[in-house]
Amino acid sequence: MSDFIPEDFIQKVLEDSDIVSLVDSYVPLKRKGKDHWAQCPFCDDGSNPSFSVSDQKQFYYCFKCRASGNAIGFLMNYQSKDFVGAVEILAKNLGLEIPRTKSNYDREKFDELFRFNDEAKNFYKNNLLKPKEGEHIRSYLKERGISEEISKEFELGLSLEGWDNLVKYFESKNIEAKESSKLFKIAKNERKYDVFRNRLIFPIVSRRNKIVGFGGRVLDDQDQPKYLNTPESEVFKKSRELYGLPNVLARSSRPSQILVVEGYMDVLACFSFDLPIAVATLGIATNKFHLETLFQKTDEVIFCFDGDEAGRNASKLALEIAIPVVKDGKRVKFLFLPDDHDPASLLLEKGKDELPKLINDATNLSDYLFESILENHDSSLEGKAAASKEFVSLVKPMQEGNFKTILINEFSKKMDIDLSEVSPTKPEAKKHSQTEDMEMDLGKVTKSLLKCIIHNPDLAKSEYLDYFIDNNEFLISPLISFLRAKSDVSFPMIIQEFPEQKNILIDLSNDQNLISPDEGLKFIKQAVDYIERNQGDNLLEKLKIKYEKNELDSKEKIELKKLLTSKFEQLTEDELSLFKKL
Ligand SMILES: [Zn+2]
Repeated sequence: MSDFIPEDFIQKVLEDSDIVSLVDSYVPLKRKGKDHWAQCPFCDDGSNPSFSVSDQKQFYYCFKCRASGNAIGFLMNYQSKDFVGAVEILAKNLGLEIPRTKSNYDREKFDELFRFNDEAKNFYKNNLLKPKEGEHIRSYLKERGISEEISKEFELGLSLEGWDNLVKYFESKNIEAKESSKLFKIAKNERKYDVFRNRLIFPIVSRRNKIVGFGGRVLDDQDQPKYLNTPESEVFKKSRELYGLPNVLARSSRPSQILVVEGYMDVLACFSFDLPIAVATLGIATNKFHLETLFQKTDEVIFCFDGDEAGRNASKLALEIAIPVVKDGKRVKFLFLPDDHDPASLLLEKGKDELPKLINDATNLSDYLFESILENHDSSLEGKAAASKEFVSLVKPMQEGNFKTILINEFSKKMDIDLSEVSPTKPEAKKHSQTEDMEMDLGKVTKSLLKCIIHNPDLAKSEYLDYFIDNNEFLISPLISFLRAKSDVSFPMIIQEFPEQKNILIDLSNDQNLISPDEGLKFIKQAVDYIERNQGDNLLEKLKIKYEKNELDSKEKIELKKLLTSKFEQLTEDELSLFKKL
């Protein structure tokens, strides 16, 4: 069988498959509210299921290790199938046969797309060379330190102002401006127009040296979006490409290190300043595939982050991506640029010597991992215990090897705890569960109420719960307001709305004893009565103390009398004598 499966067949298979029953046949799922839950098969989430499968979205997601994907992704990860193998299983389940497309025909279709891109690239490139029209862009590049040589090597181009310059160019060459090229769109009046207008154009070259798409940067900073990529096509998948990689490999088929930067301009600046080791993702976060691809070509990958908050956030994500991929013989480093700098601006301001120095001093993954855990915890015993827990869950998905062993030993020394027993198969010892933490924070009744509402979000509309809208109660009041404002709320939506309370919510949703809507409504009434009464008891105590101190005003006196009357039959002798005095 050819490795090629038509895109529309893959779509059909995904549409017809049901991810819930698929996952359930491998990992038994339990329904909680709108979603289905299980222990995560890809990480150790202890006794606390973090793995959710959404019927509505046909998607799985682990709140702990962030594993996620559709039915194909699940089979690829869980059954270690390749893409074709995963589609074959799904097709077989559906009783469908994978169309055996003749491979020549597919190649023709692909070649046609590449030919469109080549033509477009030539057109854009020539625009940039035009004495008049290209002048301001050429000087812009020069100002940004991009050399003419590098501009030529990367075949930078220019799409001019106007709606259909490329359409007309294709027509002049007797090439049909097909929508499938993703270079054109069709307006309501059926006229074709260019996707890229008035932009600096960066052709995106695949590892097989084909132009698969384009990036375009605005020329007028008023225009939006600042960067635009070709829409995805059969030959262009953003998550698979790394801008600059073919150029890096053209200089050296096995570079000693590769620098991952954020944008096209950063890559071009690095190359212009004698640092031809830079690649960039196409406006998306680095993923596992990117890192695995880079490790096929080099042993050291350095993630370079801008010196701002977005940069620091991105670095945390990169750390989580890197941990399961890194293994003995491979290194990941983290480089944080000075405040408000990106590689391009740093090179321009400080010249070509500063960045290589920073690369030299980049932080090792181990140091960055320790730092990022320790900054969240103090050095008390409690802090160390919590830090160790975080460390263990982070390194669990790491591949076995010397690096992992050393990492665990080092952290054990820092924490004075022996963590060497930690292995990916061993469930984490939980001395202090999240449930216990929660009980300290939340009253039992409130907790049951929350559980009841999570299982039956529609009950949030019950008038009994109005009480919580007037009395701002931790979590429960905002939750009710949130649910009342929306319909069809799924559990992941709740989690998304209350990220801080994620653990409490997951714990609650994890209860085996489901409550039916009818029982739920009864329970809500009882619970609210109970809470109101309890509130009354508290108030009674407060007023009694005030009475003894002779601090009651007339209104409070009436309130106190009312409260005592309401529980007249259970009054203590003291309360009875107090009642008589009032
Ligand atoms: Zn997981």
